[in-house]
Amino acid sequence: MISPQFTCRAINSHLYARVRKPWGIQGMARPSSDLAAFREIFSKAKNVAIITGAGVSAESGVPTFRGAGGYWRKWQAQELATPEAFSRNPSRVWEFYHYRREVMLTKNPNPAHLAIAECEERLSKQGRKVTVITQNIDELHNRAGSKNILELHGSLFKTRCMTCGHEAANYKSPICAALKGKGAPDPDTQDAQIPVQHLPRCEQTGCHGLLRPAVVWFGETLDSDILTHSEKVLDSCDLCLVVGTSSVVYPAAMFAPQVAARGVPVAEFNMEDTPATMRFKFHFHGPCGTTLPPALRRHETEP
Ligand SMILES: [Zn+2]
Repeated sequence: MISPQFTCRAINSHLYARVRKPWGIQGMARPSSDLAAFREIFSKAKNVAIITGAGVSAESGVPTFRGAGGYWRKWQAQELATPEAFSRNPSRVWEFYHYRREVMLTKNPNPAHLAIAECEERLSKQGRKVTVITQNIDELHNRAGSKNILELHGSLFKTRCMTCGHEAANYKSPICAALKGKGAPDPDTQDAQIPVQHLPRCEQTGCHGLLRPAVVWFGETLDSDILTHSEKVLDSCDLCLVVGTSSVVYPAAMFAPQVAARGVPVAEFNMEDTPATMRFKFHFHGPCGTTLPPALRRHETEP
């Protein structure tokens, strides 16, 4: 059971410590990369949980602003995606998110997103269920056609009012007049220094509070309803896929071990080699846009 009090960072360090240890044990078998064996299990699964991470979006060319070369101006996401950064300089943080929203207009779901969505639609007609649990905030699963999506980190295309708390979908481009043409990522770009009254504002009657992106920032807690719902999905799934992230990295590190502990098969699709373990049944190495479509296509036993 994961306590919702954990912040993103706390979950990271806590689970890293917890799940790393068993992999030091010698003599454990490597996970299988036998696609036919995976598909045999897949063909019988009634409740499939698919945990996705940054790797899925990376194949669509979505920048993460993390790691080597991952800068917006002089900063990385962990310096701007915080409540402190927003209260210090809401104009700069809104420029950053405005840029990310606008970039998404030029990106599209890739074959991994499409294979997941197609699989959900096909299986639902057979009375079987697929649920996506994602850390991605770009809505590419949504755009690919997935319906059952749990967004652990919120969405670039939702806002929350700092005054009344109202959350709303928002696909405006630009999100407000003052941000038009702003948000350029080059390191020598000057801050637009937009007055706070000209940043995105709440449209609820009589409110006019400052809006913020409805995403989970570093140091903030995850939404407890979404966490509870995710727990239910994971407690009832009979097959779990980890796509575009590794099981030592959040969010899969938080969920996959508890699924495996119930004896449920877990299959990883990612670019990283996983430490030898018997806890996860399958590992398919490579870009998930290549490995996932053949794994999820119609099985011969399906109607
Ligand atoms: Zn409001």
